[in-house]
Amino acid sequence: MSQLWSPPGVGPGGQAPQEKSCPYCLEQIRADAMRCRHCRTWLKGNPLQNEWYRSSEGMIAGVCQGLADQFRVSPTLLRLFFVLTTLFALGTGLVLYIALWFIMPRPPAE
Ligand SMILES: [Zn+2]
Repeated sequence: MSQLWSPPGVGPGGQAPQEKSCPYCLEQIRADAMRCRHCRTWLKGNPLQNEWYRSSEGMIAGVCQGLADQFRVSPTLLRLFFVLTTLFALGTGLVLYIALWFIMPRPPAE
């Protein structure tokens, strides 16, 4: 990794450096970066406007893990949610899971 960090106020041409701290891992990233290159977290705007990528590390289709990554919550909690809504809400959880499976793209190749 090349060292791109510069102290605040010492940007090129006297301008403020076009960098900011990632809110998740606190590494310096480009101010207009959509995704942190250190922790791979999507940053820009409302999370609902971002792509929800399935995780390649999930148990079934990576839906729960992908959602967990997106919303910074526990994947176990999401799996519990899907199981409970499947059992007690006429299969809603299962339908939702399969729907998300289809609409959530695979993560981009790194
Ligand atoms: Zn980060």
